[in-house]
Amino acid sequence: MDSQESEKVSIAGAPGVDTDQRFECVGCGACCRGRFVPLTLAEAVTWLKRGHPVGVLLEAFDDSLWPVDSPEYAYNAGRSAPVIGGSGTLRVTVILAANAIPECPNLQKDGLCSVYLERPMVCRIYPMEISPFIELKPQAKDCPPESWQQGSLLASDQGLAMLVQQSRQTDRDDARRKVAVCESLGLTVAGWKGNGLVIHQPSVETLLAACESAEVDANPTDQPWQIKAEDPPLRAYLNAQSVPMADSPSDDYIFHAIPR
Ligand code: SF4
Ligand code: SF4
Repeated sequence: MDSQESEKVSIAGAPGVDTDQRFECVGCGACCRGRFVPLTLAEAVTWLKRGHPVGVLLEAFDDSLWPVDSPEYAYNAGRSAPVIGGSGTLRVTVILAANAIPECPNLQKDGLCSVYLERPMVCRIYPMEISPFIELKPQAKDCPPESWQQGSLLASDQGLAMLVQQSRQTDRDDARRKVAVCESLGLTVAGWKGNGLVIHQPSVETLLAACESAEVDANPTDQPWQIKAEDPPLRAYLNAQSVPMADSPSDDYIFHAIPR
């Protein structure tokens, strides 16, 4: 995501990246359109202060998805926080995401980014994947073919590797505070990881106030959470775990089912 032609970016090596894969951003701006842009908590505050909305995407899981001693569980647990889910504990991951649909509000008519020097971390990282469990697939990215045929070798770009690490660390650092922000706003319905996301859309003013007033060392409260799920076997599992289900129609959020 680099719409500043004067400063082209190459991306760094990571698990699953071919050692001979090259990349160079050609500044086409395609990645600034038609998507949500995940933000850190600090980036969300900056975004909201510019008057642009930020969505709150929520997903939950428990230790039924991965063994608790697995790398997958460790990665996902690290970027989540424990909450009350019925008689047990769930973990909730909060994704603060700017709406770039149909296009980012910072994308200028000339295709350049108006906040280039302050652009979010994911904009600096794209098209690289941040999750260590998602393989980089050039064909699944918005970058045109020529961008993959020039530039530096991914495996040798230490600058991008550091950005990816920084992004993962910030995800961990922000996790509890973001859940506390949600609880302060009563946003306590989440999708189930892999089944769907619940998307809340608080007003700019409301979310900004909650983000700014959340303590750095905030912890989730004892508020009970509900799960929105449409998959019958998953619903049966959650019912067996006494997890409260959000079954009543609601205008407070959108449920975005994830295709299998
Ligand atoms: S889609 Fe790829 S090539 Fe185009 S601006 Fe974004 S990162 Fe650069
Ligand atoms: S902030 Fe800039 S680089 Fe990021 S999506 Fe918006 S226009 Fe593109």
